[in-house]
Amino acid sequence: MRIRYKLALLFTLIVASLLTLFSYVIYEDSSRHRDEVFLGRLENKARTTARYLIDVKEINNELLRIIDQNSLTALDEELVLVFDPRNKLVYSSIDDKPVKYSRRLIAEVREEKIVEYTEGVYDQIGLAFPSKIDSSKGEYVVLASAYDKFGKYKLRNLRNTLLICWFVGVGLTVLASGWLSAYFLRPVATINEKIQHITAQNLKERLSEGNGKDEIAQLAINFNQMLNRLDMSFEQQKSFVSHASHELRTPLTAMKTDIQSGLEETLSAEEYREILRDLFQDTQRLIGLTNGLLQLARPLDKVLRRNTLSVVDLLLDIQSHMGATQKVTDICFDPAIFEMKPDDIQVTGDESLLKTLLTNLMDNACKYSNGHPVYITIERQQSNCFIHVKDQGIGIAEKDQERIFGAFFRGNNAIRYTGYGIGLAVSQRIAEWHDGSVSVQSELHQGSTFTLRLPLA
Ligand code: ADP
Repeated sequence: MRIRYKLALLFTLIVASLLTLFSYVIYEDSSRHRDEVFLGRLENKARTTARYLIDVKEINNELLRIIDQNSLTALDEELVLVFDPRNKLVYSSIDDKPVKYSRRLIAEVREEKIVEYTEGVYDQIGLAFPSKIDSSKGEYVVLASAYDKFGKYKLRNLRNTLLICWFVGVGLTVLASGWLSAYFLRPVATINEKIQHITAQNLKERLSEGNGKDEIAQLAINFNQMLNRLDMSFEQQKSFVSHASHELRTPLTAMKTDIQSGLEETLSAEEYREILRDLFQDTQRLIGLTNGLLQLARPLDKVLRRNTLSVVDLLLDIQSHMGATQKVTDICFDPAIFEMKPDDIQVTGDESLLKTLLTNLMDNACKYSNGHPVYITIERQQSNCFIHVKDQGIGIAEKDQERIFGAFFRGNNAIRYTGYGIGLAVSQRIAEWHDGSVSVQSELHQGSTFTLRLPLA
């Protein structure tokens, strides 16, 4: 069932139940009140008649009947019966007609002293009445019954009014709740319709954000923000693919040209060797590029192994490894590092990924510093450790400093150095996976300081 109908039904059910409850309470209370008032009047009537009959010598049955029928307190279809202590009927307010009464009831009245009951439309009361003048005579029993014409009419009227109100109330609630739920859920229907038309091809479409305040508007705002993120990542994906294919095509085209010239011309052994050397270099470039792409593309959580690692050991490992490929003098470690114990500064992370990250930063520093030394320092601050890689190289233009962390971006001043523009993107990704970050401070022609921040273990 649609939410719109569910809401309308639920609301109607609630209102119908409340109306039923209130109507029941009102009717029951009025009915009880009528009973109390009428039985009170009936009791008064019974007592007055009995008193006149038993205690006032001057009044006989005939006179009492006249008084009963003509008094202002006379009730509709009133019948008063008085029985003497031996259960003999001594007075009936309708003497000319035979009356029916139950002996069992008289016995019950003698025992209970007062009994109230109804028979058909008649309210009845029975009460035991001792003579004030001569109590030795024993108790008389008075049975009085009458029809509460006015009270019952009022009650019937009240019941009809309540029934009409109930049906009108429920009917109006059905209409109002149907209209209200349609009114409030209309924006959801509109959003639904719009969402159906949003595909990967038209991610630029946005939902109407209504008044921008209520929950539905908030839903539309959040959905639009999600579309923004999706759109951005689609764009990044597209630009990544086009950059990657461009980068792969350059060495492949060079290789094709080399192979073509080797096949088409007859060359000397030295010239063939030259071609092979070029091919080797291009293949190296392709391998480097595809490795970088792989690192960018693979999900890190699959390769990540979290261990507690000593930052000092990590740096010393990288230093000893670099010794084989780089001129050792290029990288100067802060002497304080050698004095530290391995467990002085520890982080949690994947050893091989963190080495890749630090090696990238150090490789870049060496590559772009034209032989000037590179300085490595470590610092502890609160719950973080900071590793600074400082060079005195070509520096990075201010406008490029944010962009260098995007895949395939290379600064204008870096074009004459070999590279693919992938290393920093990979490094930033690895740092983020370790809840850390890589930042840069740089000045053109002066040098750069790359800082890796990692949370301490
Ligand atoms: P690559 O070095 O292969 O070009 P990176 O992603 O490592 O790729 O670096 C991206 C760009 O950032 C470089 O092309 C360069 O413009 C700039 N860069 C990185 N490190 C340095 C540095 N130490 N000094 C100057 N520029 C740097």
